[in-house]
Amino acid sequence: MRERPQKPKELSPQERIKSFDEVILGYIEEQVLAEAKRCLRCKNPACIAGCPVGIDIKKFILQIVDKDYGGAYFTIRQKNDFASICGRVCPAEYQCRKTCVLTKKGSPFCSEESINIHFLERFVGDYGMQKALEAPIERDEKLAKFKVAVVGSGPAGLCCAGELARRGVKVVVFEALHKPGGVLRYGIPPFRLPRNILDYEIDYLKKLGVELIPNVIIGRTKTLDELFKEGFSAVFLGLGAGTPGFLGIKGENLCNVYSANEFLTRVNLMSAFKFPESHTPINIGRQIIVIGGGNTAMDAARAALRLQKMNGITPDTSVFYRRTEVEMPARRLEIEHAKEEGIIFRFLVQPEEFIGNDAGFVQKLACLQCQLGEPDESGRRRPIAIKGSDFEANCDLAVIAIGLKANEVLTKATAELKTDKYGDLVVDPETMETSIKGVYAGGDIVGGEGTVIEAMGMAKKASEAIIKYLETK
Ligand code: FAD
Ligand code: SF4
Repeated sequence: MRERPQKPKELSPQERIKSFDEVILGYIEEQVLAEAKRCLRCKNPACIAGCPVGIDIKKFILQIVDKDYGGAYFTIRQKNDFASICGRVCPAEYQCRKTCVLTKKGSPFCSEESINIHFLERFVGDYGMQKALEAPIERDEKLAKFKVAVVGSGPAGLCCAGELARRGVKVVVFEALHKPGGVLRYGIPPFRLPRNILDYEIDYLKKLGVELIPNVIIGRTKTLDELFKEGFSAVFLGLGAGTPGFLGIKGENLCNVYSANEFLTRVNLMSAFKFPESHTPINIGRQIIVIGGGNTAMDAARAALRLQKMNGITPDTSVFYRRTEVEMPARRLEIEHAKEEGIIFRFLVQPEEFIGNDAGFVQKLACLQCQLGEPDESGRRRPIAIKGSDFEANCDLAVIAIGLKANEVLTKATAELKTDKYGDLVVDPETMETSIKGVYAGGDIVGGEGTVIEAMGMAKKASEAIIKYLETK
């Protein structure tokens, strides 16, 4: 009989909510070996097709079985520079674990039996980091004369920068914020992705020769044209989707109604969870409502509940979502963790109006109950509000986490850059080249909100096309 899947050690829910410390502690060696041995070594490993960057999953798992963790690290690194990051944040249940043969056919998620590929990847990534392993570099002297500008330092920008630098190209990354990392820095909280992991990967890029320049908004501080005039031969745009969506309902501009972006940026990037040690404060409500059903909503709710606990307030944080749990786009693990930590879920609820007090602070959220109708264009069943089902929920802090749109500062400032109706960049899918010659793009600015590994997949494709483009020059 095959062994049961290994579960990594986690902090208990009571422990977790007292701090922003990492929740999942990962596998110990004994567990990593037991999990790797469960792999069937398939002749046609279906798991690889589920990985957006095509890691040779079977090979690295076999290397783990042989205790060749260094070899496994280099196998992963051939396709993915950020094993420790992806091992922590990849929605593997929709990707490699879902296509693993141990998942039953037709299942919307992976089955529990499928190999915990992401936890194996995390172990190997952390091993490489602890041993400071460095992958061999194939610099091409002919490419050393070229300079490429990367705009945005999220996973797409960082991945593209790494790929180009490894080949010998001089890369300069321009970032609008004061710290690099994009969503990995300002969106995903440290209890899911400790910042020393992110800093290690960024330092590695710096060692490869990548120059990072913060506090520069391309399109404002300088234009694309100016970059070319400064001698950059090509540009990669990894602008992300950082513009928050709003509900468009009455009362949305009341005090203590936040967009998830502002809330998470204050908490994560500006370290408001360490206030007064850090300089950025944040209001903490007694009754918090987070609206939405994706990863952003889960991160905002779990961060809010921790802030309540850490400030001596009895935790009372709810998530309001207009469909049911089945349709929630968040990672299953995050939903489970949120429930364990005490987040209250209210499904089939449509917000109608924020109601404030005389001082302009939010006090209540008026809602309607919904039922599910026919599937809409997203394939999920459409929520339909039920007439006369109105109710009010108390709320002195609300966070709106209903989706993000393209960062448009640069695209609006550059008329020649072709965008679609959502404001996303239009690219040639083969090369990721935009409507401007020599300007490439990838990540959430192409096709909207995706995942870290999808952003990296596009960046890799773009970096290969950039190399070809430079070779023609
Ligand atoms: P981003 O990460 O958004 O980075 C873009 C960067 O470009 C930003 O730093 C921005 O400041 C900078 N920038 C923009 N315009 C300019 C300009 N004009 N000049 C200079 N700099 C500029 N995905 C997962 O796989 N797993 C998860 O668990 C997960 N959780 C998430 C949680 C949250 C809260 C959010 C918001 C997203 C989450 N995602 C997750 C999605 C994932 O983070 C994104 O798909 C990914 O970060 C996209 O990468 P990117 O590089 O395209 O953009
Ligand atoms: Fe192993 Fe699953 Fe990949 Fe088969 S599909 S090689 S069982 S991880």
